[in-house]
Amino acid sequence: MVLYNSLGQSKQEFVPHTPGKVNMYTCGPTVYHYAHIGNLRTYIMEDVLEKYLRFSGYDVNRVMNITDVGHLTSDADTGEDKMLKGAKREHKTVLEIAKFYTDAFFSDCEKLNIKRPDVVEPATNCIDLFIEMISKLLDKGYAYIAGGNVYFDTSKLENYYVFGNMNEDDLAVGVRDSVEEDKNKRNKTDFVLWFTKSKFDSQELKWESPWGLGYPGWHIECSCISYKHNGEYLDIHCGGVDNKFPHHTNEIAQSEAFLGHKWCNYWFHVLHLNDARGKMSKSKGDFLTVSLLEKKGYNPLVYRMFCLQSHYRKPLTFSYESLDNTATAYDKLKKRIDALSFDGEPNLEEAKPLIDKFKEALDNDLNTSLGLTCVYDVLKADVSDATKLYSIGEFDKVLSLNLIDSGNNTENASESNAEIDELIAKRTKARAEKDWATADAIRDKLKEMHVVIEDTKDGIKWHFE
Ligand code: AMP
Ligand code: ZN
Repeated sequence: MVLYNSLGQSKQEFVPHTPGKVNMYTCGPTVYHYAHIGNLRTYIMEDVLEKYLRFSGYDVNRVMNITDVGHLTSDADTGEDKMLKGAKREHKTVLEIAKFYTDAFFSDCEKLNIKRPDVVEPATNCIDLFIEMISKLLDKGYAYIAGGNVYFDTSKLENYYVFGNMNEDDLAVGVRDSVEEDKNKRNKTDFVLWFTKSKFDSQELKWESPWGLGYPGWHIECSCISYKHNGEYLDIHCGGVDNKFPHHTNEIAQSEAFLGHKWCNYWFHVLHLNDARGKMSKSKGDFLTVSLLEKKGYNPLVYRMFCLQSHYRKPLTFSYESLDNTATAYDKLKKRIDALSFDGEPNLEEAKPLIDKFKEALDNDLNTSLGLTCVYDVLKADVSDATKLYSIGEFDKVLSLNLIDSGNNTENASESNAEIDELIAKRTKARAEKDWATADAIRDKLKEMHVVIEDTKDGIKWHFE
């Protein structure tokens, strides 16, 4: 498989550290508010990546953190903690907010058929580990204490800007948020590992540490949680493109300084979902959520399909008009698939070239839009319905659009097939016994189940309408 790697900024052949095994890490949500559909675009595309790796035979371990402390309103370590802001907004405690929005996030994920990662770890579970990593960074001379906080010294690195030339102004988010710059920093790009002093001293959750009562910076959690569950070598790190700098750049700085070797080989970044006002973001206030789409009558999977229709490395603009087009396409597609009959066995040899074409699309930097067109190619192909259903069922392991779920689903199918076979047998018996009332009742029941019966020379055959 070829993947675009932000490290090196090129498409590269994917080769995991250990053959057959993929260690994957995903920056999880900051749980101070609902996830917006922009956040969820990132999680949908990461889900496709994970599922495609599994489809390709890899054993994947996917780890995700939950940011429930330390993410300040500005990525440049200034401003108020987002969690505290959320708690104040809702007159609740930080932990209550964290629980509520973590549950809301996974409920949205479920609606979008986003698989839960193998490991989900809230930052507040791992404070001891953060302290351990920060202590080692201090011991190794990569960190310093100033004004009560512990900072990472980016001047100690040969190459801090690992993803290419970042604009230092990107760090000036704080300025945009009209927050003062931190005078304790030796270098503009240095970042906080542990806070004991900040302008916002009302932080609700604080922990004892060798540097005083305080709380961790945002970046350290991802380095530590990945290390805890994926070990020293990470194959793929995922996130939205806004996390590339400073968050991911700082994660690499910490992890490699701590480990003493290269940490993660592939960086998978999903471009943003925009709306008419630009990048969709929680701080803008009114943003679109899955529940809102549902309230407007959309099936959440229509949004998933909307995301799959475009490449993850292109910005995507949301509009209801485009979503309506996808909704129409989704309904039509489902109807065409529902019309296929389960009669007979799939021909795996005939399915192979169809599946190979799908693999070719996804192998090429996860080309999901081409992957979707493979479904239409299957529908047009000169193969039996059973072969079509089998092939589409395979694609849907990755696309997760519930393409074969309305009573036609293969698992349900064997159950419903058994029920139908039994009804047909009873009807045949009733007819043989001239019990027309029973025979007619069964015929009506089958009709309700959209089952069409045909008398052929080989006996009774049936298919769905
Ligand atoms: P957050 O909850 O703010 O920590 O963000 C969760 C994930 O959503 C991160 O991977 C972000 O990079 C990503 N993200 C934030 N805004 C957008 C957007 N408009 N489109 C796509 N992904 C986004
Ligand atoms: Zn992260």
